[in-house]
Amino acid sequence: MAVTRFAPSPTGYLHIGGLRTALYNYLWARKTNGVFRLRIEDTDTQRNNEDAMKAIINAFDWVGLNYDGVVEYQSQRMDIYKKYIQQLLDDGKAYYCYMSKEELDALREEQMANKQTPRYDGRYRDFTGTPPQGVEPVVRIKAPQEGKITFVDGVKSIMNINCDEVDDFVIARSNGFPTYNFVVAIDDALMGITDVIRGDDHLTNTAKQIIVYEALGFEIPKFYHVPMINNPQGKKLSKRDGAMDVMEYKNQGYLPEALLNFLVRLGWSNKDQEIFSMEEMLELFDPQNINKSASSYNQEKLLWLNAHYIKNISNERLSKELEFFDCYLEGHDKKEMILDLTKERAQTLVELKDAIANILNRPESYEEKGVNKFIKEDTAKFLDAYLKTLEETKESLHLACDYETVTKPFIEKFELKFPQLFQPIRIALTGGTQAPSVYDIMAILGYEEVNLRIRTALD
Ligand code: GLU
Repeated sequence: MAVTRFAPSPTGYLHIGGLRTALYNYLWARKTNGVFRLRIEDTDTQRNNEDAMKAIINAFDWVGLNYDGVVEYQSQRMDIYKKYIQQLLDDGKAYYCYMSKEELDALREEQMANKQTPRYDGRYRDFTGTPPQGVEPVVRIKAPQEGKITFVDGVKSIMNINCDEVDDFVIARSNGFPTYNFVVAIDDALMGITDVIRGDDHLTNTAKQIIVYEALGFEIPKFYHVPMINNPQGKKLSKRDGAMDVMEYKNQGYLPEALLNFLVRLGWSNKDQEIFSMEEMLELFDPQNINKSASSYNQEKLLWLNAHYIKNISNERLSKELEFFDCYLEGHDKKEMILDLTKERAQTLVELKDAIANILNRPESYEEKGVNKFIKEDTAKFLDAYLKTLEETKESLHLACDYETVTKPFIEKFELKFPQLFQPIRIALTGGTQAPSVYDIMAILGYEEVNLRIRTALD
């Protein structure tokens, strides 16, 4: 049973890298009948953003990742952190450091001049004298000075970080506020987190967090550091490539199942399987199989998955999803027909909505190229005859195949080729030449509307 968490800092919107991390944690917790927690890391009060916090919760709702228990906010847990800082001070595992900012800057400059990596030199580690006046001290933890910090990463195997790479880092600022790595370790330990799955940009933080765990005698969780998502050129993903607010995917007409399916594959695989229902993800996902190298964002793949889900979810669900785009089909007697026809070609819900509007709305104009090419002198003559044929048989016209039954003999009688009849009709009904099957459109619109649109176009 794994206890996992997603721990976003609400300094910006939830982007897809974050959502992928959340998904992996969610899957692992659910798969093992464990617990998935949501913790908002809002200790950096100056950079926190109320809207971002709401956006994170909204995004979770939209994709259906439900967390267990209440959302924890680090800003509400300050007393807990302070207690542990005091404990470490009392145990001699942490100490006050009175180095002023000027002294720290001078030390850093000197180290840089000597081509050394800037690090605190431990000068107050064993200090017993009288503290200097006028300096509010920070609290530093005693990091091990020799050897290695070793941990097993489920993705990258054994990690060794030399102790000389980690100094006695600050765990409480001079205003008493705890620092990031300290609170993460405390929370993960107190919340019983067994498996930490997060981006590999946190690898160096992990070494520091392990120092906190060890100083407090907490059990160290398993870590899985997930490689980044790059753009197709192998560079960091930018907004333009897709690193946008998750809710923007909703606005652009993606279904949550398509986005989750896309994300699960961006960094994890099961043979060459591409389509994963939530049930399959839960059955097959294992963080041990997370890819070791960075993945590449592929917009085409996302569109392909979205088209797949648009085709395969129920019409009931589709028509609900379309309401977000002001497209209302509920109660329309041809709802099924409309969706069956249009969902075959749509890659996004926005395209689907447009395709539906293209059929249901009377054309406001006619595509000039199509008109020049397909509307000839004799077109009006046979269209008129065609409408008369429809009129005579209108009682029998319900489905696309009914229109077909009537149209075939008509075409033979007039010795027409299909495009000669259908392209002008397509233009008359939709304004363009790109619409799907004319029989289907006619069946959706019904004889009266077909008659009206064709007559209007002929005028
Ligand atoms: N708050 C961190 C972030 O948003 C994540 C910390 C963690 O997962 O340990 O990057």
